[in-house]
Amino acid sequence: MKSQLKVYNTLTRQKEVFKPLHPPRVGMYVCGPTVYGKAHLGHARSAITFDVVFRYLKYLGYQVRYVRNITDVGHLERDADEGEDKIAKQARLEQLEPMEVVRYYTDSYRKDMARLNVLQPSIEPSASGHIIEQIGMIEQIMRAGLAYEVNGSVYFDVEKYNKQGHYGKLSGRMIADLLTGTRALAKQQEKRGPLDFALWKKATPTHIMRWPSPWGEGFPGWHLECSAIGAKYLGQPFDIHGGGIDLLFPHHECEIAQSQVVYHTVPAKYWLHNNLITIDGQKMGKSLGNFITLEQLFQGTHNLLDQAYSPMVLRFFMLQAHYRGTLAFSIEALEAAKRGYLKLINGLRALKKLVYTEDTPTNVDEKVVEQLHRNCDACHDAMNDDFNTAKTIAQLFDLLKRINDLKHGNLEATTLGKEAFERLKNTYKIFVEEILGIKEEPRLSPEALLHTLLKLYREAKEQKQYDRVDAIRAALKGQGIILQDMKTGVDWTYEV
Ligand SMILES: [Zn+2]
Repeated sequence: MKSQLKVYNTLTRQKEVFKPLHPPRVGMYVCGPTVYGKAHLGHARSAITFDVVFRYLKYLGYQVRYVRNITDVGHLERDADEGEDKIAKQARLEQLEPMEVVRYYTDSYRKDMARLNVLQPSIEPSASGHIIEQIGMIEQIMRAGLAYEVNGSVYFDVEKYNKQGHYGKLSGRMIADLLTGTRALAKQQEKRGPLDFALWKKATPTHIMRWPSPWGEGFPGWHLECSAIGAKYLGQPFDIHGGGIDLLFPHHECEIAQSQVVYHTVPAKYWLHNNLITIDGQKMGKSLGNFITLEQLFQGTHNLLDQAYSPMVLRFFMLQAHYRGTLAFSIEALEAAKRGYLKLINGLRALKKLVYTEDTPTNVDEKVVEQLHRNCDACHDAMNDDFNTAKTIAQLFDLLKRINDLKHGNLEATTLGKEAFERLKNTYKIFVEEILGIKEEPRLSPEALLHTLLKLYREAKEQKQYDRVDAIRAALKGQGIILQDMKTGVDWTYEV
C-alpha cells in the first residue's frame, strides 16, 4: 500500500497526515526576504526547502497556490520595534531612494533563486502594496480592545490578549516565563508591556516610506504584512505556513495573535520550519557577520572559499540533509556534495541513452524486479515522511547502481522486464529533475574546448600530419569558425 504524506507540524509538535482543508487545492504561505542586502545561504535554505514542498505537492496532484512575500517596509533593525527601518538604513548608506534599494535587491534575489532552480511562487506580494489591508486589520484589533495608540504608534496588547488566547502556543512558551525573561522597559518606551509589539509606527520627519493612517503618517509593523497578505490571497485559515525556524518566535507567534483577533482562527493548519545553517558550530547569520552570500559562493570570492561552487552543488548540499535538522557548512561537505551531484547527473545522462528493445522478455529475474520496486516505493515513502530528501537521495543512489549496471552491461534490460525498466527510468528522472529540482548545469566551456582543439591543430601541423590538420579545419568550419595561420601563431575568426 502506498504511504500517505505526513508533515511535522510545529503547532502540534508531531508528524500528522497531510489533509488539505479544500482538496485538491492547497494554500501555502512562506515568509520571504527583507530586500536590503544580497541573499545568503540562509535565504537559499528556506527557499529550497519550500520549493521542494511546492514541487512535491504538485507532483501528488494538488493545485497549489504558493504565496511568498517581499518585505520592503517595516522591518526594523535587530527585528525589534526600535531602531531604523532596514531598507531606509541601506538607502541612506547607499545614498539611494528606499524603493531603489528594494528594486535592486528584489531583482538580485530573484536571479539567485532562478539559478538555484527555485520555482517562482504563484503570487509574490510586497508589504508596501498592502498598506490598506494592514490598516484595516489594525482597526479591527483596536475595535476588539487589544491594541492601543501612543503618540501616533499602535501596539498590540499581548498580556490582555493572553487572557483569552494563548500567546506562545506555536513556540510552546508561556507568557509568565516570557515576562520573567524580559528586561524592564526603558523609560522612554511607548509600550505598556514588554511583550507588546508594533502594529503601526509613527514616521519621523525624515522617514520617506510613510503612509497616511487614522493615527497619522507612518508605516506598518513587520509582523502584520504576513497576516494581511496571507488572509487576502489564501483566505483563513489556509493549509501550510512556512519559514525559517528563526522566524518562529516572535514573528509567527505575533502573526497568530493578530489573526486570532481579526479572523478568530490560527491562520494556518500546518506550520513548517526549516532549520538553520551553522558554521564552526555557530548559527550563520547576517547579524553575526559570518554569512556567505550566494554571489560569493557562486563566484568563489568569500575568504573561506578557494573555488566557486555552482548553484546546483549548493542545492544538492542542502537537500542531502533533512530540512528540520541544522546543516553544518564546511568545504569538505561542499566537496562531497559536488561529487554526489555529479554522480546523480551522470546517472541522468546515462538514463537518457537507455532504451528497452526486447518485446518479449524471457529472462526476467523476479528477485531483481522486486528489489527495484522496493527502491522506487522507498523514494515515495521518504518524501512522504515529512519531505525527507536525505533518505530520498540515498534511494536514488541505489537506483543509480542499477542504471550503471545497465549502462555497463552488467544487467540486461530484459532481466528487469519492460514495466520495471520503465519504472526505474521514470522514477529516477522525476525524483531528480521534477521533485528535487536538480538539473544538469553546463560545465563545459566552449572557449576551453576551442583552446584544446587549437592545441591539437598546432601539434598536428608541427608533426606534418596534414590529414588531421584538414580534419580539424573542416570540423571547425562546420561550426562557423575559420582557422587562420598567422606569423604569430594560430588565430581564428567567425565565418562571414
Ligand atoms: Zn512572515
